[in-house]
Amino acid sequence: MPAALVVGGGVAGPAVAQLLARDGWDVQVVEAHAQPDPYAGLFLNVATNGLAVLQTLGLRERLLADGHRAGRMVMWSRTGKELGVVPNGPAREPERGSVVVRRSWLHQVLQEGSDAAGIRTTLGARLVGIDQDDDGVRATFADGTTARADLLVGADGIGSPTRRYIDPAAPEPTYSGLVGVGGFARVPGLAPTPETQHFVFGARSFFGYLVRTDGTVYWFANITAPDRHASVTLDDLRDLHADDPHPVPDILRATTEELRPYPIDDLVGVRRWSRGRVVAVGDAVHATSPSAGQGASLALEDAAVLARCLRDEADHTAAFARYQELRQPRAEAVVRYARAINAQKRVTRSRLGVAVRDAMMPLFLRRAADDTRNDWLYEHAVD
Ligand SMILES: Cc1cc2nc3c(=O)[nH]c(=O)nc-3n(C[C@H](O)[C@H](O)[C@H](O)COP(=O)(O)OP(=O)(O)OC[C@H]3O[C@@H](n4cnc5c(N)ncnc54)[C@H](O)[C@@H]3O)c2cc1C
Repeated sequence: MPAALVVGGGVAGPAVAQLLARDGWDVQVVEAHAQPDPYAGLFLNVATNGLAVLQTLGLRERLLADGHRAGRMVMWSRTGKELGVVPNGPAREPERGSVVVRRSWLHQVLQEGSDAAGIRTTLGARLVGIDQDDDGVRATFADGTTARADLLVGADGIGSPTRRYIDPAAPEPTYSGLVGVGGFARVPGLAPTPETQHFVFGARSFFGYLVRTDGTVYWFANITAPDRHASVTLDDLRDLHADDPHPVPDILRATTEELRPYPIDDLVGVRRWSRGRVVAVGDAVHATSPSAGQGASLALEDAAVLARCLRDEADHTAAFARYQELRQPRAEAVVRYARAINAQKRVTRSRLGVAVRDAMMPLFLRRAADDTRNDWLYEHAVD
């Protein structure tokens, strides 16, 4: 039985592990974190295309059991005017729309899938070195232990050591000019937002929120900041959004947990996705900023395509080449799409710029609900 070592127990890692195990691989997953962090990463959008991969894994319904269906996104101006409704899924098919889940729930569901498939997952194993010969590949971990396999799949995220092993000259992530923060809150009297997520082009920062049926609010803000390490406190954020429409200030007032700001980066132009017996998937080789709501879904798609190529191609060399050929154009198109959204989110200091944006946005969004031009994001069939 051929053996694969999957580095990274995020999204792509457990997914590719389960698909390879189905095809007869002996798979082991190693993850740097010693234990899950339920707060890390807050929540994310699993799009229609990502849900399709979860369906293949038999995990879709389980994920939906604790998800907030959000097939539509309602856009608001800083004065509280509705700018338009954008489908979060194929146009005119809200029932096939995307779902917002806590990241920890997505991880738990994927882990349950790995456990059910009998895949060994080792936590607290941080990859620090890779070397390979004609017979296999060896991974070395921070504690000095090693593991051998026929192939190594690097699903180790945007800071991927696997990417650096594959190509030490690979580009580094690019900062978007936006710092993200987010949290959870309960605002007395704030009604649930079924099927919907709301987005506010605030006067000084971009804000998104939804209210689950149990009243829990999931919210995030994207703050324009030239410095990727800009510190943002809850008080700063309350101040930035003080003049924005209801319920934004109330949500921030009701938030009690301290913020964990993170720079929003993306990554394109990684020329080599594999080297010998080593290949990388997901954010390790193409990271989109969260604005497209597609990073996790692309990671799931990668997993499905890589497993298919390893099944259908003559050997791993042909499989890795075909996998990159199939995936790179799509993944990078999504990154570019997200960059265009980021440009709308960045707050310009020019009053004229803000006025032009606020005047143009309703025109752009007027027919968005029926616009099928973004269906390519969601309708991507991988197998
Ligand atoms: C705040 C935020 C919001 C986001 N919102 C969305 C959204 O709404 N929708 C969406 O689709 N995407 C979103 N994304 C992007 C999405 O989270 C990523 O695209 C997705 O998680 C990529 O999956 P991955 O498996 O490639 O990498 P990751 O999920 O990052 O997993 C990589 C794993 O590798 C592990 N690892 C790293 N280095 C090592 C090592 N040396 N040894 C062993 N293990 C290692 C990490 O600990 C991690 O568990 C968001 C990202 C952020 C930061």
